[in-house]
Amino acid sequence: MQHIKNQSLVSFMVSNKEQAIQVTNPATGEVLGYAPISSEQAILDGIEQANVAQKAWAALPAKSRASMLNRWYQLLIENKEDLGRLMTLEQGKPLAEAQGEVLYGASFIEWFAEEAKRTYGETIPAPSGDKRLVTIKQPVGVACAITPWNFPIAMITRKAAPALAAGCSFIVKPAELTPLSAFAVAELAYQAGIPRQVLQVVLGESAPLVGGIFTSHPLIRKLSFTGSTQVGSVLMQQSAHDIKRTSMELGGNAPFIVFEDADIDAAVVGAMASKFRNAGQTCVCANRFYVHSKVYDEFVTKFDAAVQQLKVGNGLEEGVNIGPVISAAAKQNIQSLIDRAIEQGAQPVSELQRLDGLFMQPVVLKGVTHDMDIVSQEIFGPVAPVIAFNDDEQLIEMANDTIYGLASYFYSQNIHRVWKIAEALEYGMVGINEGMISTEVAPFGGVKQSGIGREGAKQGIDEYLDVKYLCFGGN
Ligand code: NAP
Repeated sequence: MQHIKNQSLVSFMVSNKEQAIQVTNPATGEVLGYAPISSEQAILDGIEQANVAQKAWAALPAKSRASMLNRWYQLLIENKEDLGRLMTLEQGKPLAEAQGEVLYGASFIEWFAEEAKRTYGETIPAPSGDKRLVTIKQPVGVACAITPWNFPIAMITRKAAPALAAGCSFIVKPAELTPLSAFAVAELAYQAGIPRQVLQVVLGESAPLVGGIFTSHPLIRKLSFTGSTQVGSVLMQQSAHDIKRTSMELGGNAPFIVFEDADIDAAVVGAMASKFRNAGQTCVCANRFYVHSKVYDEFVTKFDAAVQQLKVGNGLEEGVNIGPVISAAAKQNIQSLIDRAIEQGAQPVSELQRLDGLFMQPVVLKGVTHDMDIVSQEIFGPVAPVIAFNDDEQLIEMANDTIYGLASYFYSQNIHRVWKIAEALEYGMVGINEGMISTEVAPFGGVKQSGIGREGAKQGIDEYLDVKYLCFGGN
């Protein structure tokens, strides 16, 4: 691939189209290359090898695992430009955002390299004098993961880094639409000294086939999934048979609330960051805006003015803020949500243009009401529906009226209201006067049908550790 300077990053690509997945650029439709597919037998063999290799990996001092992870982190930083370019080519997000994701993805490796050395157990005061009680933490064993296309690197490192730090081996199936970034970051892990059996990237004949193996193979002890609630539910059901541990990072329907006492300019900045990153295709993107009727017109006017400044285009071009959406099916789904909202009475604040290819004009919709489909469904596109509200109680009811519970945001300068609303929102994460909440140091995850478990932070490594209780008698 001629766009990439460090050719070792794309050395995994194959020319045999029979045994490969074709990867295309969503901005141009150009074929970028072919990623290798593993046969079912090769995946099964890989699991056996991961199981053997895990024992030796876990037996290393935590400090040795940490130094390999640190080297991996450094290599991501050194290859930020190439990795970012590769991601823009296969995923579409603007280059600056793609490079930002490389840094964000790398931050999990750095963080968990540090946490590897701190998987402390406890001593417990015993109920009788002849006993001594202790806990230790041990890696679960072979862990596997299935990841989505919207963050082709960060959704992998957020799982792989804690798994490897804990002493697990790790096998990931990336999304079919964005496998190149996954193989490229794994290549850097191997260059950092992490054994190939300990970290594996696999694509199978189909996602359900790989999911079936991951959820039924007796040597796999843990599945971590990021993707839609629908697929997460299927994988949980499949995992139930063998009582496998699961972590689920699923869909969202984030409310973004602007109270009448908010700093409106700050709310517009937060709304832009939360709604339009990755062309609106993140699980923590604001999905619906609730704005107090006293400040509704002011917010909508200022928000739309900022949206009109966004430049749509190929993510490799200078100044582009919004790339293409991921697929024709995604575009059709977003467009039909917009069309239905307009039929139901919503109005675009500025003229809505229909763009060619997979590009979409970002749009603010006013006159939206809470009962419209666009409010209850995950939009996953550059569309901002704005609803007016009048009182806090009704607002909380509407904000919590969803099966999801991932991210939420609100803007208010009243400290009493801030605490009350923060506690009342049924979400795993709340941005207060802030539209960008993701960081490796804080626990990321949802409640309700947005998932189970937390990634990042000190909690993230516990997803890959078992607590073992040791009771010393006869003292
Ligand atoms: P998706 O359809 O659920 O796909 C996610 C992954 O699951 C892909 O690797 C896909 O493989 C695989 N998959 C699909 N069907 C499967 C099956 N039956 N068995 C095993 N694996 C299967 O989700 P998506 O449309 O790619 O991603 C968007 C969703 O992810 C949104 O709902 C978003 O909110 C959510 N998300 C959540 C978070 C979070 O942290 N909570 C973060 C990012 C995204 P193929 O690509 O090969 O089909």
